[in-house]
Amino acid sequence: MPKEIRAAYQANSRSESGNPGEEYFQNNADYDIIVEFNPVSGILKGNSTIIYKNNSNADLNKIVFKLYPNLYKKGIIRKEDIDASDIGDGMEIISIMSVDSGIETVNEIGKLMIVGLSKPLTAGGSIGFICEWKYQFPMKTLLREGRYLDSTFFVAYWYPRIAVYDDIDGWDLNQYNGEQEFYNDYGSYKVNIKVPDNYLVWASGELQNPEEVYSDTVLNLLETAYNSNQIVKIIDAENLGSNKFTLNESNNWKFNSSNITDFAFCITNNFFWDATSTDLNGKRVKVDAVYSPYSVDFHEVAELSVKSIHRISKVMGVDYPFSRLTAFNGHYGMEFPMMINNGDEENRNGTVFITAHEIAHSWFPFLVGTNEHRYAFMDEGLVTYLPKVVEDELSIDGEYRSFADNIKTYSYYGNRVNDVPMMVPSEQLFGSTYMYVAYNRASMAYYTLEDILGTKTFRKCLKSFIINWSYKHPTAYDMFYTFNKVSGKNLNWFWNTWFFSFGSGDIGIADFSQKKDKLIVDIINEGGFPVPVYLIVNYEDGTSDAFHTSASIWEDGQKEKSLNFNTKKEVVSILLDDTKTPDSNKGNNFLAE
Ligand SMILES: [Zn+2]
Repeated sequence: MPKEIRAAYQANSRSESGNPGEEYFQNNADYDIIVEFNPVSGILKGNSTIIYKNNSNADLNKIVFKLYPNLYKKGIIRKEDIDASDIGDGMEIISIMSVDSGIETVNEIGKLMIVGLSKPLTAGGSIGFICEWKYQFPMKTLLREGRYLDSTFFVAYWYPRIAVYDDIDGWDLNQYNGEQEFYNDYGSYKVNIKVPDNYLVWASGELQNPEEVYSDTVLNLLETAYNSNQIVKIIDAENLGSNKFTLNESNNWKFNSSNITDFAFCITNNFFWDATSTDLNGKRVKVDAVYSPYSVDFHEVAELSVKSIHRISKVMGVDYPFSRLTAFNGHYGMEFPMMINNGDEENRNGTVFITAHEIAHSWFPFLVGTNEHRYAFMDEGLVTYLPKVVEDELSIDGEYRSFADNIKTYSYYGNRVNDVPMMVPSEQLFGSTYMYVAYNRASMAYYTLEDILGTKTFRKCLKSFIINWSYKHPTAYDMFYTFNKVSGKNLNWFWNTWFFSFGSGDIGIADFSQKKDKLIVDIINEGGFPVPVYLIVNYEDGTSDAFHTSASIWEDGQKEKSLNFNTKKEVVSILLDDTKTPDSNKGNNFLAE
C-alpha cells in the first residue's frame, strides 16, 4: 500500500473494516451562483458566493480553486483536441474577495487558482468568498460541454470551484487536462440561470420557480407528466418553434439542490422534450428527455431511463439517489448529477447501453464519491459491468450488444503493451490505455469477482460499500476491505491479480479424457489471472453441452487444474467459450480428440 494511503489508515481516518474511520473528515462548499448566458456570443458571466467549511484538523492558509474553463486558455497543457477557434482567455476572474479573511495572493497555475489567505482558515472554521468571473463558452469543441444545432448548449465544468482537501493528499492539485473526470466535494447549490427569451433550461437541481418561467400549457402538461407514468410529449414536431413554452417575463431559472458534487445545465430553443415520472419505492422520480429533432432513437430514451432507474436500483441494492433525471441528447456519453448527456448511437442497443451506463454513474461517482483522477476503474468499470442486466433485457436480439462485446474487446486488448495494472493512477494514463484499463479491463475484473462470490454475495458487498461510502470519498483500498469483510473471504489473492499486476485472463485447454461417466478436462492458466471457465463440449452425435466452473478455482495460484464434469456421451472436441470467459489469447482455446 502506498505510504500516504497507509498513513490515512494509521491515523484512523480510514479503517481496515472497510468503513470510514473515526477520524474521517470531508470539507464542503455551498455555492450560490447567479449566471447569465448569452447563447449568441457564448459569454457566460457569473457571480458566485461560496461558503467553504474546513472539517479537517488542519489550519489552511491557502484555498485551492479549480478553473476548468482554463482548458481553453492559450498555452495551457491539455490531452484533448480543442478547436483552434475556441482557444482564448479561459476563465477570467474579475474579482475575488473574502469577508472573513484578507486575500494576500492569487496565483493561477494552469487550471488551478491558489488563493493565499492573510488569516488561516482554522480547523472547524468556515470562510466565505465572493467571486465575479466570466468565460467564453467553446462554440465548436465538444468535450464535457458543447453546442448543438446552433442554439442548444450543454454547460458543464463551468464555474470556479474549490478543490477537494482530503486525508490522503491534502489539496487535490490534479490539473484537468480534458480527460479525467470527477473528484469533487459535496455541497448545496442555489443557481440562478438567466437566458434570453424562449429558451428552456434543465439543470442538476429542482426548478424553484416553474410558474415564473413556463407557460400555462407547459405547466399543465408537466402536472400530468410528473404525477403519472405517462410519457408526455411537451415539444415535438407539431409545436416546435411555436414559442408557447416560456413566459419570457423574468427568464431567471432558479434551481436548488443539496448534497451533490457538481452542477451542470442545458439550454435550448430547438430541441424536443418528453417528460414523465415513475414511482421508485414510494419516491416519485421525474424524468425528462431533451433531444434533437434529428435523433433516431431518443424518442425512446424517457422510457429507457425509467426502466434503467428501476433495474439498476435493484442491482445496486440502493435506490436511484436523485429526485429527477434529465437525459439530454448532445454528444458522446457523459454523466452529471441528475443529468446525462448522450449522443446518438449507431443502433438502438447502443442507446440502451449508453443510457444505462450514464444513469448507473448516479451511484458511482455521484452517490459514492470516488476519485476518478486516481481510480477511474472504480466507477467506469462498475458502471460498464453492472448495467449488463439492463442490456440483456432491453436490447434487441438481432443486433445484440451485450457484455459479450466487451469480452471480445478484452480478447483484443488484453496482454498488449498498454495492458497495465488498474492501480496505476488514472491521471497517469490517457487515450486508449485509459479507456481500456478504466472501462474494459475493470469490467472484466468485476465480472470475474461476481463469478467468484456468486451474485447474492457480490451484491451484498456492493450494497454495503454504497451504504458505507454514500456522500463520501472511498479509495480503492476501502472497496477491497469492504468486499473482504462483507463476503467473509480474504480476496487479496484476487485483487492482487486484476487490480495490481501485469498479466491477463488467458486459459487454454491442455488435454481431456473420459472415464465412464466422467469427463476430465485439464485447463492451463497461461495469463495468470483468475477467470471463470466456460466450456462448450461437442459430442460425437453432433450435440453439445455447456459447462461452467467458477474462477475461485484459481485461488491457490496453481497454473493447472483438472476439472471433472458428468457426461455419458463421447466427446470429440472442447472449445473455450470466449464470449463468456475473458481471454487474451485464442490460440489455445480449442482441442479435438
Ligand atoms: Zn462512464
